[in-house]
Amino acid sequence: METITISQAPQHVGETVKIGVWLTDKRSSGKIAFLQLRDGSGFFQGIIRKNDVDEATFEAAKHDLHPETSFVVTGEIAEDKRSKFGYEIHINDLEIVGQSDEYPIGNKEHGIDFLLDHRHLWLRSRKPWALMRIRSQVKLSTMEFFDKHGFTQFDAPILTSSAPEGTTELFNVDYFDEDAYLSQSGQLYGEAGAMALGRIYTMGPTFRAEKSKTRRHMTEFWMIEPEMAWCHEEESEEIQEQYVAYLIQDLIDKCPTELEMVGRSVESLKPFTELPYPRITYKEAIEMLQKGGMDVKYGDDFGAPEETFLADQFNKPVFIKNYPRSIKAFYMPTDPEDAQQVICADLLAPEGYGEIIGGSERSYDYEYITSKLEENGLSKEDYGWYDDLRKYGSVPHSGFGMGLERFLSWVTLQDHIRENIPFPRMLNRLRP
Ligand code: ATP
Repeated sequence: METITISQAPQHVGETVKIGVWLTDKRSSGKIAFLQLRDGSGFFQGIIRKNDVDEATFEAAKHDLHPETSFVVTGEIAEDKRSKFGYEIHINDLEIVGQSDEYPIGNKEHGIDFLLDHRHLWLRSRKPWALMRIRSQVKLSTMEFFDKHGFTQFDAPILTSSAPEGTTELFNVDYFDEDAYLSQSGQLYGEAGAMALGRIYTMGPTFRAEKSKTRRHMTEFWMIEPEMAWCHEEESEEIQEQYVAYLIQDLIDKCPTELEMVGRSVESLKPFTELPYPRITYKEAIEMLQKGGMDVKYGDDFGAPEETFLADQFNKPVFIKNYPRSIKAFYMPTDPEDAQQVICADLLAPEGYGEIIGGSERSYDYEYITSKLEENGLSKEDYGWYDDLRKYGSVPHSGFGMGLERFLSWVTLQDHIRENIPFPRMLNRLRP
């Protein structure tokens, strides 16, 4: 007899199979018991009728199975049109493998701290399960998208010797006799990769010792950071919108059940697959905000209220282009139309989810970068290598960073970004 997974049920209708499962819930009435089962690949229902099994098995199903008991069921797969999973198993044998103590997570409402303390178990519940499957799909789609567009995957180091944007947001690590920091972005190394391989992207964890406790910030989060040689900002923005639309289309095609489980309708995602996304300048954004009665002036950075207000003016993600130099990173080149500004764009998600991508052209002028490094107090010892990228055959290049969990919290409509990573790390959360 074949051993299958729940996800393989559609190919085995009418066959008797074995499946290793956990119990999530059960109800029984007289001669029949309904077991809600999961096996990691999916969820479905098991039905045990008193007449189909021996007395001991039926009694065990009714009394010895507690939430999260693990067992192997043998039975026949049938279609179940009433369930969103579409299939069920009519059980004729059941063998308990691991008993479960009284399971702390039940059907009642739990407080968020309780759930985060039990994250290792909470991950077994339906919503986190669906969210982790969506996360996995987005990483896979990322690799496919960049592969199709001629990018090479490239890994930036996580331990770094210096801090391009100041040390206040960095985690300090004792590296033998030296100070080291956990990387807050793979970008600078990605630029070296682009000069070697043309178009690269990094995908990995980044770290920021942000003391802010917002629903959009964690201290450890994943970034996808493409860097492209021979590429100007306009082309980079086209790649960004194509990438976002591709991720969304792939979720619509491959994760409709998971989307439904987290409360995101496929219909509501479809408009975001239509390109182009609108583009406005930072100056236009300031005007819009001022007209809307918000207290901002040229030179201010946008926080969550401003980003939400701007995004609400559009029904798609929107690019905000060319910010003032004073609020952007040192490597961004001057905007030829306004020397106070740099060539860059942030992509804001609609529906109040804020910035999902930050991108820019990278200056390829040796003198400019050397002077900016000096201005920012970044030493030759630590950044000489970054200078070298401009010294030996510098070319126009651009790149961007997409926060994986920011993107995910938008497409899965989660109130807090922590739902979209297996074990969130935040100001007050290092365990489990
Ligand atoms: P914000 O202003 O929203 O804090 P940022 O300007 O510091 O973001 P970048 O340095 O441009 O962000 O980082 C690129 C992307 O990484 C952002 O667009 C966002 O999607 C994501 N990101 C940045 N900081 C965090 C964080 N603390 N937690 C999760 N994602 C983040």
